[in-house]
Parts: sequence; structure tokens; C-alpha cells
Amino acid sequence: MEDCIFCKIVNGEIPSFKVYEDDTVFAFLDINPLSKGHVLVLSKEHYENILEVPEDTYAHMAKMTKKISDKVQEVYKPEGILVNQNNGKRAGQQIMHIHIHVKPIYKDTMVFSEANHRKKFDDQKMKKIQKELAID
Ligand code: AMP
Ligand code: ZN
Repeated sequence: MEDCIFCKIVNGEIPSFKVYEDDTVFAFLDINPLSKGHVLVLSKEHYENILEVPEDTYAHMAKMTKKISDKVQEVYKPEGILVNQNNGKRAGQQIMHIHIHVKPIYKDTMVFSEANHRKKFDDQKMKKIQKELAID
């Protein structure tokens, strides 16, 4: 897609620090990493977010996210690995081309917790939501 910075990276029009590429997926170092080894795993095709991307493509992105996480663990031995994928501006998405973040968490890495902002719903509300979201 024109004017998409990640499409330009995939096409080689903008340089990147690539760590993996196949027919479907492209992975490279985040230019402004949270920590050493912060990798972005993208679909080569331009899809905006999880709602647009085909299931198979997303499944392959997830598979390579697992492989890259294993590699990061083997090489850098972080205390944890935070994997996240933002959909929509309100969810923190800045680049509107789907990508999964692999963020190694070391002793000194800042982790932003939402723990203090969680809600508690009563059983009735939980059951209603369960019914609304159940997939056969
Ligand atoms: P998000 O907020 O989930 O859309 O994440 C976008 C990420 O892309 C951010 O972590 C940026 O640091 C990263 N980013 C933006 N431009 C580039 C670039 N040219 N090369 C590598 N990473 C980039
Ligand atoms: Zn794109």
C-alpha cells in the first residue's frame, strides 16, 4: 500500500534490520525498542489489523512469533517475553499495518501494568457476556 512505512520496509524501499523473511512474513528490529531484541513480526501483505488479516496469515505470523521468541530466549535469556499486537489507535496502534511485537523483558525493563485498572463483573454479567461471545 502506498504511503505505508511497513510496506516500504517489506519492499526494501526503506532499510530495516531484518531477522527473518519468507513468502508471508517479514520480521525486523523495532527502530525504537523497549529493550534489546524487540522484534516486529509483520504480514508482507498490507492488512490494517486483526480484523482484516486472513486467519491463515495470522496463524503463520503467530508461528514465526513463537520461533523468534525461542531465539530471543536462547540468545539473550530475558526474564520474560511480552508479546502484544495493537489494533486501532485507541489500543496503541501507531502504524496501521498489522504487526506483532516481541519484547524481551530484562531486570531493568519498564513494564506498564494495567493491573490496577481491572474490573470485577458479577456472575450475571459474566454469563451474559459468555453467551454473547460463545463460538460454536
Ligand atoms: P504500534 O504502536 O503497535 O503500531 O508499533 C509501531 C512500532 O513500529 C513502534 O514500536 C515503532 O518504534 C516501530 N517503528 C516505526 N517506524 C519504524 C521503522 N522505520 N523501523 C522499525 N520500526 C519502526
Ligand atoms: Zn502496509
